[in-house]
Formats: sequence, C-alpha cells, structure tokens
Amino acid sequence: MSLILQSEKMIYVDENITPDDDVITPFEYRDVKIKKDENPSDKYTILPELGRGSFGTVFLCKDKQNNMELAVKVVGYKKKKEKIMMETEIDILASLHHPTIICIYDAFDYGNKLYCFMELIQGGELFERVIDEDFILTERACACFIRQICDAIEYMHSKRIIHLDLKPENVLCLSKQGNRIKIIDFGFARRYDPNKNLQVMFGTAEFSAPEVVLFEDIGPFTDMWSIGVICYVLLSGLSPFVGADDYETMTNVSFAKYSFEYASFDQISPVAKDFIEKLLVKESSKRMKAKNALKHEWLIQLDSLPPGVTLSLTKTKLKRYVILRRWRKAALSVMFINKLNKLSNSHLINNY
Ligand code: ATP
Repeated sequence: MSLILQSEKMIYVDENITPDDDVITPFEYRDVKIKKDENPSDKYTILPELGRGSFGTVFLCKDKQNNMELAVKVVGYKKKKEKIMMETEIDILASLHHPTIICIYDAFDYGNKLYCFMELIQGGELFERVIDEDFILTERACACFIRQICDAIEYMHSKRIIHLDLKPENVLCLSKQGNRIKIIDFGFARRYDPNKNLQVMFGTAEFSAPEVVLFEDIGPFTDMWSIGVICYVLLSGLSPFVGADDYETMTNVSFAKYSFEYASFDQISPVAKDFIEKLLVKESSKRMKAKNALKHEWLIQLDSLPPGVTLSLTKTKLKRYVILRRWRKAALSVMFINKLNKLSNSHLINNY
C-alpha cells in the first residue's frame, strides 16, 4: 500500500489510489444491535476524551478482551426525542459497510446514556491536517479527498441513506500521513424514501443547501450541495456563502450566488470549477448526483491536472478559516456552558 511520498518531511498525498483498493478497517464488519441493561464498563475501559460535539462526547477506549483501541461516542438522553436520534444514528451506522465510512463496533443503552463504540480514527480532522506546515496542498490532493467523499456518499445514497451534515469537521484522516479519510457523525442522517416528502431544520448553515434553509424537500441532492461547499473551501480557503451570522449565511445560501473571482482560484483548473458549478446549483433536481460526480472529468482524470502546483495562497486562507472555526466552536461551547450555568442557577433559585 503506497500512501505517501515523503521527502524532507514534506508530505505529499499520493493521489493515484482509488478509494476501495485496500482494506482499511481494523476489524470485520459486525452485526451491531443496541445492548440494553448491560454495563459497557464490563467490556470496555473508557479513557480520555477525544473530542466533543453539540450532541455527544467521544472518548478513547479499549476492548478489555482483545485490548483493541476504539472510540466511543456517549450521548446522555433525557427526552425520548434525543434517544431516538442516537438510536437512528446507531441503526444507520450499523447498516453501512464502506471503507470511507466510520465502522461501528458495539452499542449500549445504559443508565440513560447511549454508547456507540466505533473504530478509532487517529489522523484528526481533514482541514486541520491540510493546514499542517509539512502538508503539500495541491489541486490533485483536493481531488483525491473529494473523490473519496463522493465514493462514500454514492454508496450511502445507493442504500437510500442521506448524511445531511457533511462539513469539514465530519471528515477525519485515517493517519497523519496517508491520504485516507473517513466520514463520521451520522447524527442527522436519515433513511430516504423518494416517494415521501422530507424537510429538516438542522445542519450547519455554511454547508446547508438552499432547500434546507428554505424548508423545502430534501434528498440525496442535499448532500451533494455540501460536497460542493467543502470542495470550494478546500480549493480556495474561502467559504462561498458565509455571512456575519447564521441569518446572513442562510440568506446567502438561499440566493445560491457565489463567485470564483478571488485570487485563490487563479491557480485552480477550469475542470475543478466546473465540478463545483455542477454541485452548487440552486435547483436541486439539476444538481450533479454522486454517481455522476465520480464520473466527472476532475475526479477521473486526475493525471491531466496541472502536476505539483502548490496552492500556497489557499493554504494561508485555509489556516485563517480553520482558526476562525476553532474560535467559533470555542465561543459556542462557552455560550452553551454559560447557558447551562444560568439554567442550573435558576434551578437552584427556584428550588431554594
Ligand atoms: P456535531 O456537533 O458536529 O453534530 P457530535 O456531537 O455529533 O458533533 P461527533 O461529530 O460525532 O459528535 O464527534 C465529536 C468529535 O469527536 C469529532 O469532531 C472528532 O474530533 C471526534 N471523533 C468522533 N468520532 C471519532 C473517532 N471515531 N475517532 C476519533 N475521534 C473521533
């Protein structure tokens, strides 16, 4: 398996591998059903925290029987709705077996908490990795990542599952050096019936499709829009619809107007821009489908792309973008903690 070419510490992505040419799951796919009234601590040792999102906290852990390191997402639930959401995530994950999709290992419902044990991904978030000093960011490398995302999404869509929360934080790198990625966080994923209408009011404004912000019918095409936004950001370090706040961002998304008139796009090939243009289409029925994205010239003819051009301006902008997102996430957690404090204070005042 040749994953990287490394010279003097600089890390190049080997763009030549196809997403499914080797096995990269640390264990065989398992038939996972949620175990009830069994304490997960009997089988697993829970170790330090790896990350947290708005729903769950993810910890490092070990299977006591074979010492295998895993990750476990723990979500406490008080309301039935919260429980159903996590059960849906586990059920969907258990039905997905693909090399670019996080692999589930075990699941428990114990003490008003749901535990989802899954493979451990050690390479960190994709965007964090590409801004690393040693990482050589090229258009080919971007195409290599986007091809893997499209491959996983095409597989999901073929099983009538839509992710609905594709964003940079939900794309993790398998290792610090290789080019393999995995899609995580199926908290918003849904089974999709083309004969039924489905609307949602969640997601991350910056990566949400117009039909989401306009509360119109969503479908597999909704994921394809998000891939278009991820691709735009990865190639330029700029976010096509971001505004001063979520309201402004959603307004921008609803108009679906964006531009390539920025210096970062000067080095980007017309075929890459065409790929984005076919995804960032307001009318969802005209948006490129995952299977057509995989057949798009940009993804199938990586070799004809300008070789080795380093996207240094993109990288500079991407660094700023990632830092801003880190700040935003931290600010949101502080707001969340303050809100919790206020709630518990009012609870104390109400009770004493
Ligand atoms: P969000 O608020 O984005 O919906 P969430 O509460 O659903 O998040 P996740 O996105 O699933 O939670 O996980 C939170 C963080 O934990 C991730 O951003 C990632 O850094 C880390 N993480 C999740 N799964 C794994 C894994 N399998 N291996 C290593 N780290 C992981």
